[in-house]
Amino acid sequence: MPIYKAPLEDVRFVLDEIVGLDKLSALPGYEEATPELVGQVLEEGAKLCEEVLFPLNQSGDGEGCHFENGVVHTPKGFKEAYATYIEAGWQGLACDPAYGGQGLPKLVNTMLEEFICSANLSFGMYPGLSLGAYNALAMYGSDELKQRFLPKLVDGTWSGTMCLTEPHCGTDLGIIRTKAVPDGEGSYKITGTKIFISAGEHDLTENILHLVLARLPDAPAGTRGISLFLVPKFLDRADGSVGPRNGVACGSIEHKMGIKASSTCVMNFEDATGWLVGEPHKGMRAMFVMMNAARLAVGIQGLGLAEVSYQNAVNYARERLQGRSLSGVKAPDKPADPIIVHPDVRRNLLTARAYAEGARALGALVAYNLDVAEKHPDTRTRRDADEFVQLMTPIVKALFTDIGFESANIAVQVHGGHGFVWETGVEQYVRDARICQIYEGTNGIQALDLVGRKLPQDMGRLLRHFFHPVGRDIEAAMQKDELGEFVMPLAKAFAKLQQATALIAQKGLKDPEEAGAAASDYLRLFGLVALGWMWLSMVEKAQAKLAAGDGDAAFLEAKVKTARFYMTKLLPQVNSLFIAITAGAKPLMEMDEAAF
Ligand SMILES: Cc1cc2nc3c(=O)[nH]c(=O)nc-3n(C[C@H](O)[C@H](O)[C@H](O)COP(=O)(O)OP(=O)(O)OC[C@H]3O[C@@H](n4cnc5c(N)ncnc54)[C@H](O)[C@@H]3O)c2cc1C
Repeated sequence: MPIYKAPLEDVRFVLDEIVGLDKLSALPGYEEATPELVGQVLEEGAKLCEEVLFPLNQSGDGEGCHFENGVVHTPKGFKEAYATYIEAGWQGLACDPAYGGQGLPKLVNTMLEEFICSANLSFGMYPGLSLGAYNALAMYGSDELKQRFLPKLVDGTWSGTMCLTEPHCGTDLGIIRTKAVPDGEGSYKITGTKIFISAGEHDLTENILHLVLARLPDAPAGTRGISLFLVPKFLDRADGSVGPRNGVACGSIEHKMGIKASSTCVMNFEDATGWLVGEPHKGMRAMFVMMNAARLAVGIQGLGLAEVSYQNAVNYARERLQGRSLSGVKAPDKPADPIIVHPDVRRNLLTARAYAEGARALGALVAYNLDVAEKHPDTRTRRDADEFVQLMTPIVKALFTDIGFESANIAVQVHGGHGFVWETGVEQYVRDARICQIYEGTNGIQALDLVGRKLPQDMGRLLRHFFHPVGRDIEAAMQKDELGEFVMPLAKAFAKLQQATALIAQKGLKDPEEAGAAASDYLRLFGLVALGWMWLSMVEKAQAKLAAGDGDAAFLEAKVKTARFYMTKLLPQVNSLFIAITAGAKPLMEMDEAAF
């Protein structure tokens, strides 16, 4: 049976030492987010995830969703769990109090999202999509639409979706065909088919609000001709209750590799009534709000899966007895030693751990910057924070989901043959983690976003929000002897990142294919340096606390040891990535298509 415990101690360390909760509650509007309150919220959230959501994860995977006569039934227990979730107000945790939300920082919500994704990724899809719809509507919806629909999304009685993908287009949304025609009453008639729509139909809420990309009759070709519409499953009545059925129906659900308890639907829109969100033909801008938040959230899904995979791998490695330690018997009273004594098993465990803890720190830093970008009184500080988030979004999405998948694979490997069978529970994490690398823009597309958009933006201004603080921190750490063994590998890796960036800027400007060819290796290199930066920060804090005799010494010593593992065993990947980047596009592009 799989296990899960929310990593509260590590979250606390990240919030106190890396982000600084006092800075958070100093932001206007977050005065109530004191360390005490945040601690209580996360403890309650941990309980919900461990006791309510986690027990449904494996059964939900086994049962999956059912489709009958246009209706989707979620697996046993999901309805009750969702009711518990919304009754306690979790859906509105970081939403605007003007619409019934609790107005807590996005950082707190991000930490909770990690717990949810570890406990039950399929369940997390339903509230996650609603939050995405909330974000887009809150930013671009008219006041009238906001008043009508946001309170329902915030209290969770209605849920949301994002309907982008069509049978002939996923990555290239410029070629979508769904149409929207004005109906003369201020609304539009939407017609078209969307596929792969998460939470498109289900039995958890009384209504579903679809945010749909479609083209107006006079739309220019490509992404400049796409508009965003809100299309409810049931039309709403003036008193806010659910009215007649709208022209949207679920045609079927997918039978898929993972996240089986999350419904993935074909949605048919036929003269469905919808309302424009934002300006005509500017739908991609509004959808990007939703997609950027969703990209960060999908990154956190990867982190959640890395964490739960690690926990299960360690649990098994302590219990499973096989072979004897190479340095002599460790458990003489037993027929064999636990496999945790073996260097190769430790390599696996520490890899998953170092990735998860590094990603948690980086995810928290990015989420904190989301809060700063929204709440800080100083315009320049808000802009800088926003640019840091923009730069880091493709890295969080792609790197975290890659390490989520890698860590899930590690958990299977550590379990040996037992990891390959369903009952053990860890092969589900591999299957669930796989989709995170694909949806919300595949990881290859994230890499192109990083090199094609984020690097050149404003003459490299976004980059400076990362390069400057990392450079400063490295320089400061160089002055401290006790940090020498940690900062030297990071300094070398950072130099490789700088060289790779200059190379891509120079070659990519002349030939975009050069940038495209380097993109995925570059994103990984960048991400590894970013995690290294977090590990330097964490080891510095851990050492200082150990020296001061402040805190849980076992926890802090483990931090220092994991930092050493990261810097010496994982960060050196940057060297091979750098060599691959310098090889350029030729090895990829010289082969004729016919020769493949
Ligand atoms: C379980 C699940 C849930 C989903 N949920 C939703 C949802 O809620 N809403 C929604 O709208 N969609 C959803 N999707 C769709 C998902 O976002 C798309 O599958 C994804 O964006 C990729 O699109 P595609 O499948 O059409 O692949 P394609 O776009 O056909 O891409 C195929 C491959 O080609 C690569 N590729 C494509 N174009 C380029 C390029 N220009 N440069 C380099 N490489 C390229 C891609 O990286 C990919 O590896 C979901 C999908 C699944 C499976």
